[in-house]
Amino acid sequence: KLDFHPAGRHFLQIPGPSPVPDRILRAMSYPTIDHRGPEFAALGLKVLSGIQKIFKTTQPVIIYPASGTGAWEAALANTLSPGDTVLMYETGHFATLWKKMAEALGLKPEFIGLPGIEGWRRGVQADAIEARLRADTAHVIKAVCVVHNETSTGVTSNIAAVRKAIDAAGHPALLLVDTISGLASADYRHDEWGVDVTVSGSQKGLMLPPGISFNAVSKKAIAASKTAKLPRAFWAWDEIIEMNKTGYWPYTPNTNLLYGLSEALDMILDEGLENTFARHQRLAAACRIAVKAWGLEVQCADPDVFSPVLTGVMTPEGIDADAVRKTIYERFNMSLGTGLGKMKGRMFRIGHLGEANDLTLMATLAGVEMGLKLSGITIKASGVTAAMDYLSNQKIPALKIA
Ligand code: PLP
Repeated sequence: KLDFHPAGRHFLQIPGPSPVPDRILRAMSYPTIDHRGPEFAALGLKVLSGIQKIFKTTQPVIIYPASGTGAWEAALANTLSPGDTVLMYETGHFATLWKKMAEALGLKPEFIGLPGIEGWRRGVQADAIEARLRADTAHVIKAVCVVHNETSTGVTSNIAAVRKAIDAAGHPALLLVDTISGLASADYRHDEWGVDVTVSGSQKGLMLPPGISFNAVSKKAIAASKTAKLPRAFWAWDEIIEMNKTGYWPYTPNTNLLYGLSEALDMILDEGLENTFARHQRLAAACRIAVKAWGLEVQCADPDVFSPVLTGVMTPEGIDADAVRKTIYERFNMSLGTGLGKMKGRMFRIGHLGEANDLTLMATLAGVEMGLKLSGITIKASGVTAAMDYLSNQKIPALKIA
């Protein structure tokens, strides 16, 4: 319990859950309806077709009443068999957790990546995947699993390059991609990139609370599911896809979160997906400009794969990043993301996703800048001023009063 109630809204600037817009909260407060009734089917059909546009797919998208971890399990359990080898790439903490899950399910993950911390500062190296697949002439590897937007570091890997690598090696492995924190914030193209299963979640770019997650699938993934032997019941695609054709689920779906999803889809598609992506890129660029002005280092070391969703900020040697976060939380009522796994205490993460705009970012950067100073960190220059200069010079559609 806080010893007093801080004025104003809490600034939830972690890279998900992201702040839930009032419009979505209101939509979620509608009465829960009969999930077997006619009204529900209209909602089900609307969200199932709307979400395809966000994944850029014409193929089925399965919606689970579960967090992203459930959809991770669903992707593996539906397509693979006990003892199958899967090639997984270490981009950070979430890639590591997915690998742990694969082991727990009885798969044999081969975990490749750049050594030490270097791998956590760069995206997936598609040439390493190609080389490993070329060496696998017996086609023992059944799937390649990569994280698109690595939330622990702020690195967005090039999925088209991974697809190209698999094709160049002439390898039949499935391509499984986690874009739990990338969807609806970073450009993503399930069909064009030839992804077999895309995993995503509700609490990031979709601006919803945690609680629903997704598998977008391909024909090849569905074919694989017919012979895959890992045990599955709740996660099994076939019955869900069949019932989804009429807008229903085989079990009780998460009705009120689906109201929220329907509202989120309206908001994103009204803004226009490409505009949404451009806004995220603009905010991320402004955030990096601030970090550079402060004289601090961005965790992602390769400009080609800077994340539009979040920015990882490394604190100077000897400064505990979690102590900085604590100061900012206690003084300014703002939450920043902690350093995870190998980066614990060495970095904090600034989320700029979902409904973030120029002014929410500026307030966030002001809180960080004040917090850095209060933590005894000498900054080179004002990141706030640098970011304002950048943002005020961007050409973006302005609101017009008729
Ligand atoms: N993968 C990524 C990239 C994530 O960012 C997260 C959560 O932040 C997960 C997987 C796990 O999802 P969840 O916490 O919703 O189960």
